[in-house]
Amino acid sequence: MEFDLIELIRQRTAQPRDDVRLGIGDDAALLAVPAGQELAVAIDTLVEGVHFPRGTAAADIGWKALAVNLSDLAAMGASPAWALLALTMPSGDAGFVEGFVEGFSQLAQPHRLALVGGDTTRGPLSISVAVHGFVPPGKALGRSEARVGDAVLVTGTLGDAAAGLQALQHPTPGEQGDIKLRDYLIGRLNRPTPRLAAGIALRDQAHACVDISDGLLADLGHICVASGVGAEIEAALLPRSSALLGLHDDTTALRFALSGGDDYELCFTVPASRVAQVQADLSRLGCGVTRIGRIVEGEGVRVRGHEGDWLKTRQSGWEHFA
Ligand code: ADP
Ligand code: MG
Repeated sequence: MEFDLIELIRQRTAQPRDDVRLGIGDDAALLAVPAGQELAVAIDTLVEGVHFPRGTAAADIGWKALAVNLSDLAAMGASPAWALLALTMPSGDAGFVEGFVEGFSQLAQPHRLALVGGDTTRGPLSISVAVHGFVPPGKALGRSEARVGDAVLVTGTLGDAAAGLQALQHPTPGEQGDIKLRDYLIGRLNRPTPRLAAGIALRDQAHACVDISDGLLADLGHICVASGVGAEIEAALLPRSSALLGLHDDTTALRFALSGGDDYELCFTVPASRVAQVQADLSRLGCGVTRIGRIVEGEGVRVRGHEGDWLKTRQSGWEHFA
């Protein structure tokens, strides 16, 4: 049974690449890192009931398990090549595996990512994906090089995934229009878009970059700690989708945008003189980008409210407004 499942996974994820000398089927994969490239490697685990709600569609789990990892490569400015998949599930459920690899492949294929191996075991539903990507030496985007005076920007919109999770957890009968907005937000939760092209475009532009998995305050906070700087954010500038604003009042939408996790947008810093160029470059890639604040001396992330007052926030979450 386990071997049938592995064969199913192998067939449904087939992706020919010259740099895969040996893929699924032996004791280990054999891979050739292209000359003159550094290898960027990341791994993330999704556990049912912790990282996605019980009842999430198998295809959505497959997409997201890969997406959260590709987002880490995007945040480094790396281009993806290979993945490993450790799949733990309660039973040898071929239907689940079919759905899972369908969602996984929908994201893997356009990026020419090859699944080169993994592990299949029995236990509570849990998925680990490891990804490998390439980046030219010295070009990777870290967290530690943000400088005082840099502008802080984010891709896409913030808070959608947190609002999507709330929509799943508190299903209320809504108007037809509301249902569309809720579906949009739930889609942002289940099928995040890793900003790979944006990350590559930022290689020669950004001083520091992080992907937003735990919420803007927490993740921008990581850049601040690593770089030994502070950041000032303008609440009024935070990009929020019409779906988020259509379903929530401004206070709730702001809370989601600042502290909600799972958006997988990029937050990065660039010298103020490069903002226009970066906005043009990312727009050309079809990736929205918004300047939300700046890097300052000191430490921590401060958020200025609509009246120019500083909001009472906590780096790892959210307390309340002043
Ligand atoms: P071994 O016992 O030598 O570790 P396995 O029986 O676990 O080998 O796996 C056989 C082959 O199938 C290996 O090449 C392994 O990488 C691959 N494989 C196993 N599970 C998965 C999976 N969930 N996804 C992709 N490849 C897998
Ligand atoms: Mg072996």
